Amino acid sequence: MFLEAMTWSQAKSFLSAEIIALLPLGSVEQHGPICPLGTDFIVPKELAKMVESLCPERVVVLPVMPYGVCPYHSGFAGTVDIGWELLSGVTKKIAEAVLKYGVRKFVFLNGHGGNGPALDDTALWIYRQGGIAAIIDWWSLAAELNSRWSGGHGTGQETSMMMALRPGWINREGFFETKITNLTDRMPSKYINAVSFGNGTIRIPRNVDEISSSGAFGEDDPREATPELGEEIITGIVSYLRDFIEAFLEVPLPNAFNK
Ligand SMILES: [Zn+2]
Repeated sequence: MFLEAMTWSQAKSFLSAEIIALLPLGSVEQHGPICPLGTDFIVPKELAKMVESLCPERVVVLPVMPYGVCPYHSGFAGTVDIGWELLSGVTKKIAEAVLKYGVRKFVFLNGHGGNGPALDDTALWIYRQGGIAAIIDWWSLAAELNSRWSGGHGTGQETSMMMALRPGWINREGFFETKITNLTDRMPSKYINAVSFGNGTIRIPRNVDEISSSGAFGEDDPREATPELGEEIITGIVSYLRDFIEAFLEVPLPNAFNK
């Protein structure tokens, strides 16, 4: 069920410890030359809709939280960062409201890596209120489910997903080759927030516009993206999430105020 579609009396009877609140979250941020700024919240929003269609009596899908934590992308126009303190505060307030009406279990279906620390913070807060929250980063999950489904930022994986979900919003004519700038010769950029040194990876947060000329970063070439690959990834993730939700409903709750 969708919270936004219910009346308050329907919500009163549906919201309970027997269901899971599913909150899709993302970011409004640059996604390279061909993917739209809304990529990171559109993908989780659409995945959540599909999960709901498979188990409508098991979940209440909350309205998507489109804004997230992306200060390092702000050198590219259109990026809107709200900072991790605010995301942590907003998600706690959402959880507080839903807990009040009896729901104890949450799934944060996340579309953006920068949201991670804020979601960890909120998940532990929920736990200490006697609830429990799971955080699912769809792009990492996709890579674990199938190595062909892995991808970077604004590259083949995300382009394929958006070709499946919003085909008219892919700006193919805008494509240009990304020039990557390394931190030093000995520390090549490994990702937008990390470098390689020897055989290891070191996280060094920097401004993305100083690393990637297009804003994109990843080995999965967006020119090889297809809607079919996007559909394949979507089907795999949605089926996994349906199984996870069934199993998560059986997880015992912590003792409130006892942690
Ligand atoms: Zn993204």
